[in-house]
Amino acid sequence: MLLASATEVFRRISHAAMRAGRNPEEVKLVAVTKTVSSDRIREAIDLGLRIFGESRVQEAEKKILSEELKGDRHLLQWHFIGHLQVNKAKTAVQLFDLIHSVDSQHLASEVDGRAGQLGKVQRVLLQVKLADEPAKHGVPEEGVGELIRSVSRLKHVRLEGLMAIPPFAADAERSRDYYRRLACLRDRLQGEGFHLPELSMGMSHDYQVAVEEGATLVRVGTAIFGERSV
Ligand SMILES: *Cc1c(COP(=O)(O)O)cnc(C)c1O
Repeated sequence: MLLASATEVFRRISHAAMRAGRNPEEVKLVAVTKTVSSDRIREAIDLGLRIFGESRVQEAEKKILSEELKGDRHLLQWHFIGHLQVNKAKTAVQLFDLIHSVDSQHLASEVDGRAGQLGKVQRVLLQVKLADEPAKHGVPEEGVGELIRSVSRLKHVRLEGLMAIPPFAADAERSRDYYRRLACLRDRLQGEGFHLPELSMGMSHDYQVAVEEGATLVRVGTAIFGERSV
């Protein structure tokens, strides 16, 4: 079951990359394991998955440090993909290799301070808000330049790229313009001298479109693990 669905996701990523003239190896699959038990994550590791994404710090902490999984921590990359509250920054820095969702100066400074205390350089992405949706997180497009300049000055944070979650639409083609805009924004910022190799974009319903538009990290949960019950 898990083998078939994960294989299919890898196959579709490869095909989408090739359609766009890209090397499929540029695209990394982040298997999103929110609500997925440590036992099933264990199964996914045994099938060869290595990058896992979680969106709640406490839930992730339980799994990452669980008896089933803690021995494999050196093999794995854990990514934080949800909204990060400032008061959870310390635990997040302890647990995660990459935080996809930095979206304010305040949060970035907190992550920097905590990483400094741990003697770590925290890899991060900036989450960009591409549509005017009040309930969504992310820095609005017009604020990205300023945030990027201040984050680039932090000593214990390494900015590696951008992330976005477009408004949900069952039709994947509705995501294409948003992903294209994120890629353009990244190209423009790179033109200004910032090094932003990673583009985190695409979920179960639209990751193929995201890969066609340049995603280097796709965050896929349901298409691998099935529908979430909670
Ligand atoms: C849950 C989640 C995903 C994965 O969603 P699926 O539709 O299950 O693939 C991706 N990104 C973020 C930020 C999420 O919270």
